[in-house]
Amino acid sequence: MQRRSAPLWLFDLDNTLHNASHAIFPAINRNMNAFLARVLGDGETPADADTVNAIRQEYYQRYGVTMLGMVRHHGVSADEFLHEVHDFHDLSSMIRYERGLKKLLDRLPGKKILLTNAPRAYSGKVLRHMGLHKHFDAHIPVEAMRVHGQLQPKPSRPYLRKLLASYGVQAGDCILVEDSIDNLLAAKQEGLRTVWVTGYTPAHQRKRAAACADVKVQSVLQLAGQLHRLCS
Ligand SMILES: [Mg+2]
Repeated sequence: MQRRSAPLWLFDLDNTLHNASHAIFPAINRNMNAFLARVLGDGETPADADTVNAIRQEYYQRYGVTMLGMVRHHGVSADEFLHEVHDFHDLSSMIRYERGLKKLLDRLPGKKILLTNAPRAYSGKVLRHMGLHKHFDAHIPVEAMRVHGQLQPKPSRPYLRKLLASYGVQAGDCILVEDSIDNLLAAKQEGLRTVWVTGYTPAHQRKRAAACADVKVQSVLQLAGQLHRLCS
């Protein structure tokens, strides 16, 4: 059997490398709702919860991230949105992650890229807290995912194509490690190989996720036991 060349790994961050559902996502939710209520309000009274929820859902479904809808339709700057939504009182105390990630990353053959729909300031802090910042060849935050100058975060397929071309890698030699279904699906449709980190995926999405995952692992640490499937 012909050996594959060393893969290019794309790692998601939140709910892939650490447990964002524990404290970070709830805080992001509160911040985002407050931000949207203010922007969607009339200047004096913030918008009510139903209005905020409806808009959040609509933009999330349409664009993959709420931010893009706010940027395109409400004149909000991406930086302002990302900064306010990721403003935490004490981020370090909110991060929950498993030991053994450094060792795992060092064992993986090929380049490793952190590809996250979170902003650079936040994702850099989380990486450093976990001691992983030197274990990635590149860190691509949401601000850097652009096609023709336009923000195109995951699950953008044009951005994935651009990324692979910039590394000179065929889709089949690239592996996305992710918890989010839409991102796994986009990668699968582009011909990438996919690892679904199942630990934080809600029950109602599991069937769809299973359909677009080549390999599934409960925790990213279990990747070590799947290397023979992914890299040979
Ligand atoms: Mg994620």
